Amino acid sequence: MNDQLSFENIETTIVTPDSPVVIRAANLVKSYYQDEQELRVLKGLDLEFRRGEFTAIIGPSGAGKSTLLHLLGLLDLPTTGQVIFEDTDAATLNEGKLALLRDQKIGFIFQFYHLLPEFTVLENVLMPFFIRESTLNLGDSFRVQAEEILDKVNLRERSQHFPSQLSGGEQQRVAIARAIIANPDVILADEPTGNLDYKASLEIMRLLQRIHEVEGKTVIMVTHNDEYAKKAQRVIKLKDGRTVS
Ligand code: ADP
Repeated sequence: MNDQLSFENIETTIVTPDSPVVIRAANLVKSYYQDEQELRVLKGLDLEFRRGEFTAIIGPSGAGKSTLLHLLGLLDLPTTGQVIFEDTDAATLNEGKLALLRDQKIGFIFQFYHLLPEFTVLENVLMPFFIRESTLNLGDSFRVQAEEILDKVNLRERSQHFPSQLSGGEQQRVAIARAIIANPDVILADEPTGNLDYKASLEIMRLLQRIHEVEGKTVIMVTHNDEYAKKAQRVIKLKDGRTVS
């Protein structure tokens, strides 16, 4: 992939202790129940994520990383404790309001891309707008916007292809384009390089860094790869549902 991805020239994000907190987790506990057996996955986490910060969450498999990311992304609610997104306690919102907040403020990137196979690359990128506008008939301005985003991830020429015609790295770049098109404040990435070879992984990491540095997004990335975690400004290590220093 061309290293000169065409993000606009915006100043690099600087995070200071005064930068506002975007997401706060307070005494976060998450348990799953099976046959009345409690599996306590998160055991009382207190965390703050500031605007414009790039955080990596690392830890062994089963440590609770994905569970934590799901809670931070308002995809699930904690058993006890709070997730406060900007100034709103997630537990005070009904499912409709949670979905609205998610759609407006958060872009998700998953290990297995989660593209819709029957839609083209361009249509996949437009998916947040299809959902927001409740129609597949969007005006030309939306298409132009999607093409501009595809430019940023160097995939404009693939806009009419289907996901099955793309490599894993290319599919993940489409997923990144979809995550940023609606201009969310926060990007949550769950093992975004977990299914990719080394070269494609580096491309994805470069893109995430650009989204953070050039576009000023708050990025929270789960990874089990220490090399990629070092590219973040801050690393949170989870072990057995707790943070370790
Ligand atoms: P990590 O991302 O660090 O590998 P996860 O958050 O995916 O860890 O999972 C933590 C633990 O919670 C694991 O033991 C996993 O099996 C369990 N778990 C995750 N999701 C569920 C669920 N929906 N129901 C029951 N157990 C779950």
